[in-house]
Amino acid sequence: MHMIPKITANLCALREQMAAAALQAGRDPADVTLVAVTKTHPPEVVAAAVAAGMRDLGENRVQEALGKIAALAHLAPPPAWHLIGHLQRNKAKLAAEHFALVHSIDSLRLAAALARYVPSGRRLPILLQCNVSGETSKEGFTLAGGARNQAALDALLPQLEAILALPSLEVRGLMTIAPFTDDPEAARPHFRALRELRDTLAQRFPQATWRELSMGMSDDFAVAIAEGATIVRVGRAIFGSRGE
Ligand SMILES: *Cc1c(COP(=O)(O)O)cnc(C)c1O
Repeated sequence: MHMIPKITANLCALREQMAAAALQAGRDPADVTLVAVTKTHPPEVVAAAVAAGMRDLGENRVQEALGKIAALAHLAPPPAWHLIGHLQRNKAKLAAEHFALVHSIDSLRLAAALARYVPSGRRLPILLQCNVSGETSKEGFTLAGGARNQAALDALLPQLEAILALPSLEVRGLMTIAPFTDDPEAARPHFRALRELRDTLAQRFPQATWRELSMGMSDDFAVAIAEGATIVRVGRAIFGSRGE
């Protein structure tokens, strides 16, 4: 499989671009975590990414992830798996058992379902997925315009408060998926809205850290880093096109 050497070169170039974006924004490159999105790729390709130094891996479907998680579980240390796609409540138990961070919590019902299955003595880190663009096809808590949308924010606060009170979950921050376009700059207002929303929630709910902003993908990670991303989720820029 000749795509494996290519992964190392792609990762090298990506890391350089990420560091440049961070430095240009006056940020420490070490404050941005790269999650390699491995969806659609077989375990041997994922193993190559781990061999090239990747520690954080992202999948958007629980079922697809399980086989890869099992295939790579022997590695020391094992990779940290991130669930970045929509989670169905009937997969909550599997998600609680196998993922290090769930990026896609978008309702109190889902959070409560997940909370029930976290092994005792543990707290599972989660992010709240927010749809700040208002695009109707997007999942997440809908808050078009972010924190400036006072009516939507007020409607959301009781749900967020209830999620923060679930003792087996630890809210670490927010996640968003920008609308699809060819122009990375078009994503900037949405990334900024997510950051402002995070700042508002951090003031309102100091019981959580709100450190993480999971935003930015292959085409717009540099803009996301400029706007404060602490986690970027990148697939195609590492593994090439998925043939979608
Ligand atoms: C697939 C996916 C990504 C990665 O997208 P690329 O364009 O391949 O970088 C990031 N986030 C989510 C939620 C995804 O489903």
